[in-house]
Amino acid sequence: MATRATDLLAVVHARPGVTRSAAAKVVGIGTGASTELVARLVEASLLSETAAPPSGARGRPTTVLTAHPRGPLVLAAEVTNASWRVDAVELGAGAVDQAGGSLDDPGWASVSAALSEAVAGLRARHGERVRALGVAVPGTVSRALRVTSSPLGWDGVDLRAVWPDAPLLVAGNDATLAAAAESRRGAAADAAVVLHLRVESGLGGAVVDHGVALTGATGAAGEFGHMPLGDPEVLCPCGARGCWGTAVDGSALALLLGRPVPADPVAFGRELLGRERLDRQEHDAVLVVAAALGRGAAGLVNGLDADVVTLGGLAADLLRAAPDALHEAYAGGLMAYRRSSPPPLVPAALGEDGPVVGAADLAWDALLPTLA
Ligand SMILES: [Zn+2]
Repeated sequence: MATRATDLLAVVHARPGVTRSAAAKVVGIGTGASTELVARLVEASLLSETAAPPSGARGRPTTVLTAHPRGPLVLAAEVTNASWRVDAVELGAGAVDQAGGSLDDPGWASVSAALSEAVAGLRARHGERVRALGVAVPGTVSRALRVTSSPLGWDGVDLRAVWPDAPLLVAGNDATLAAAAESRRGAAADAAVVLHLRVESGLGGAVVDHGVALTGATGAAGEFGHMPLGDPEVLCPCGARGCWGTAVDGSALALLLGRPVPADPVAFGRELLGRERLDRQEHDAVLVVAAALGRGAAGLVNGLDADVVTLGGLAADLLRAAPDALHEAYAGGLMAYRRSSPPPLVPAALGEDGPVVGAADLAWDALLPTLA
């Protein structure tokens, strides 16, 4: 019974608003059993059951299943080099509350203070409903929840400081979580193998193979930006030369324009790529960077046999600003047999929310088996 209850909650989490009959079919139970199970989960404040909007079809009206208005919540946090955010997320991935702010100093002392205060505030507002915390970080997370991040200058910081008595605390790399979210709820929901590429300060990403994100032996998989597809003369902050990430981000655009390295390369890139008009030099710089992204994406598709490539962060801005240059370089780098139907390059559907949605799903995955 407990397994069926967990399975049913997982179906509603994946497809909020699913009809009771469709959910019962996925779980593999009959009408009588599903009526009883749903009644129990409604009674336990885990699900809401409401009349489905009229479909026009004949037969008995069905009901739809959604989160209970007083049901459990998870907190989902994200830290970038310039901001932080914590969402309170109900079953089905809807955010019911949010806190956030900008970061002048991404050092752990100030970030952990901001996150702790936000977590305490959300717990004060939502009380016992808050049951878990998931965190997305631009770095690697060890099994003991220690985070190392070069963009933030963190070396093995202990995430547990954010909520020391958390009943459930999980964390992952932001690009990996965004990729998992795209595969589950976003632009790659129907794909078998998804390649997600996210340009922020540098380039990260992940491969999701049949719903499972490849995290690597030490949690550091997906550092595609540190493959040597860039200019071998350029030294990357990671210590290697010629990293691809140095050729596709806001700093690469600034370098091509002969400008100093921007303090916030993401904001610099976003502003430039969002402009209505570019001068000749700016236009050429954007084409060079878009081509560098397309060539590398082709190499990864050749190697991984992905069936879709989702682009997040500045990579989505590049797709919008220079689609022809990006597609041309991509097609040119693909093995000939792939060119007649190349795996599409699509903007990430969840956009900037990807890491938070992925962190919430990670927390919900851990929480669900404990609920019913
Ligand atoms: Zn590097």
